[in-house]
Formats: sequence, structure tokens, C-alpha cells
Amino acid sequence: MEEEANGRLVIRIERRSVRRYTCSGCGRRTGRVRSTRDRTWDDLPWAAHHVTLLYRQRRIVCRHCGIRTERIEFADPKARVTRRLRQQIGVDCQSMPTSHAAVRHGVSWGKARRAENAFLAEWDRTRVKRQPRHIGLDEIQRGKGQRFWTVLSDVVHGEVIGLRQDRSEATATALLAEDLTGRQRSAITAVCTDMHRPYLNAVGTALQNAEIVFDKFHVLQHASAALDEVRRQEFFRSGAVMREHGRGKRWLLLRRWKTVRGSKRAELQALFVANRRLFKAYVLREQLDRLWTYKTRPGVLSFLMGWFKALRWQRLPEMERLGDFLLKHINGIAAFFDHAVRFGVVESINTTIKAVLRRARGMRDEEILLLKLKWATAHPIRSARDLMRFLTVQPQYSKR
Ligand SMILES: [Zn+2]
Repeated sequence: MEEEANGRLVIRIERRSVRRYTCSGCGRRTGRVRSTRDRTWDDLPWAAHHVTLLYRQRRIVCRHCGIRTERIEFADPKARVTRRLRQQIGVDCQSMPTSHAAVRHGVSWGKARRAENAFLAEWDRTRVKRQPRHIGLDEIQRGKGQRFWTVLSDVVHGEVIGLRQDRSEATATALLAEDLTGRQRSAITAVCTDMHRPYLNAVGTALQNAEIVFDKFHVLQHASAALDEVRRQEFFRSGAVMREHGRGKRWLLLRRWKTVRGSKRAELQALFVANRRLFKAYVLREQLDRLWTYKTRPGVLSFLMGWFKALRWQRLPEMERLGDFLLKHINGIAAFFDHAVRFGVVESINTTIKAVLRRARGMRDEEILLLKLKWATAHPIRSARDLMRFLTVQPQYSKR
């Protein structure tokens, strides 16, 4: 054991009285050593010191594979950190930036990123494959004016399944065909999606037995967009005085009434006093929520007709357009009678994805982004016990 100038401890490890070494190719053991080479792995710290393991790795002559390196148990082939350090970096990276985790564990950024990738990939490979009845197909945008991605998710368990750039029909079809196994596809009864034509076509091609359900979350999103358009019409295109009134109220207005509290309520009410039509549009959006309390198709239809009637004489073309749009998609909206899609899950997946994207600004690598999304939505660590399971220190060698 020796200490380097930078405070790292270098620990040389040896395996005593071992004559046969395991081939990294096939796992057979042999005693024919061709050459040896000193290699290093970063390992868990000792006291205040970061630790580097130094081990003389053999290159062996395997009868089946030819010349191969010896398999070591504490690290993956080609990895520069031990498996147990990889584990800690991998878990840390899910709650802090890679650069922080790298500093914390005394490794370079690149090493930390590779460790994280390997950790997540192994977690994903070894967990149980689910067969959800309901899946979601959704678009996400990374920041304003940036390109779109299509996300495929399991809306029963609330987990991301796949991710592709772009939101075309070809992309969606590829996701459905390639990221789901045949068994998974045949288990699907409903696809929860926005009224985005390419997605509808893709579902029609790839999943003939599944029905489309337009979920509450997306329908209300369209309603909020219409409401926002009303706000723009009323405040921003009608002179400076009104514009001052409406400035900075967008988020307040888009929030649901039940989530607005205290002084914010008064602020919203003042806004409504200034403009009746905005108030009417707001009420119409709030009422739309009741659509999902109906249990029959005629019920939904008569609710929508009533909603339409309330629109009349209001001169709210944006809301009228929304109404036409909803009526056109009435079958998909009413499909929730037959498929108890968990709308809350759809919304929470969306929120989690946005949070991960915000944290992973500038992440170019699609593979690790998908793994991160899977981890974040699957919530594998929910309790202290889960954390222990992921952070349990594995022994360097098994007793073989
Ligand atoms: Zn071999």
C-alpha cells in the first residue's frame, strides 16, 4: 500500500496460491499464462483517501478462445472502476449532476458517465419485463423551439419504455414495433395519446387490436391552450392599458381554480372583473373537467352539447374551435368507459420527464437519456431499504 502525491491510496492486491485463471471469453479455467500486466481500478474510498486498486492481470491462453485476459470478479471487462464503486456513482448520478458525482468519488467526468451508463444498463437488463394493458404515446419538446421526441410509456405502472427523436408516423411506428416485444404488443388493449394524426396512424398500423383513448390530461391541455389564446386576444391585442392588466398572468390563468390559493385567487378574480369573456372562457375550461364523471356515451355527448350551448353568444371563437375539435374526437374521448386508463399516471410521467430533461440539459446521448428516464419514472428507490439494496458493498471476490 502506498500513498500518491495527490492523496490517493494505491493498494496492490494479489491472489495467493491461485494457479488457474478464468477466461473472460468463455468462463473456463486454465493455468496457461501468456503474459501479465499491471492494471488499475478506482475503488471505494478508505477514510479520507480515494483508493486505486493495482492488480497484475494475466493474459491467458484459452483452449477455446485463444489469448484472452483473465476474468476478474470485482469489475466488468474494460471497466476502469470496480463494480461496487460503479454502483455508488450510478445511484448518485440519479440525484445529482454527473460532474458532482465525479468529484465526490474522485474520478473523471468521463469515468463517472461510463459508470453511470453501465450501472443503469445492468439495472434495466436484469429487472422484470412488464406487460402493460395500457400504454401511452406522447410527444415531448426539449425547451422552446427545440426538436420533438416521442416517448412510449407504460401508463399502468407509470414507467417510460422507449424514446425516439422526432414525432412522425414512422418514428411512432418504429417505437411500437421495435421497443415492444410481440408478447407485450398482444397484451395491449388501449393506447393513450394526444390527438396527433401521425400517432393515430402509427397505432392503427402497429397495434390493430388496441383502442385509442384520448386522455384527460391531453384534452385539458388543449382546453388550456384555447384559454391562453383567449387571454392573448383579450389583453394583448387590445391596447396598452389592457396589456398591462394581463401581463405576467399566464401561469396563474392556466392553473386550475382548486389549486389557486389566497392572494392569487384575488388576483385572478380582479382579472375576471377586468374582462368578462376571459372569465367565461375560464369557467368553460373548468367545467370540462366534469366530462370524466359521466359513465355512458350518451351522457358524455349530452354534456358536450350543454357545454356548447353555454358557448353560444359568447363570441369566443377559440373555445368554439375547441368544442368542434372535441366533438370530432368524441369516440376517443369516450373510450375511457371501456379502458380504465389511469389519467393521473399519464400526467405524472409527463411531469417526471420534464424534470429529468431540465436537469439533463444539453444531454446529447439518447441511450443514457432513455435509461435515466426509465430510472426516474420507475422509482426503484422508494425507501431506505431499497437504497441499502443498491448500495450494499459487494465483496471483492467470492469464495470460490
Ligand atoms: Zn475461453
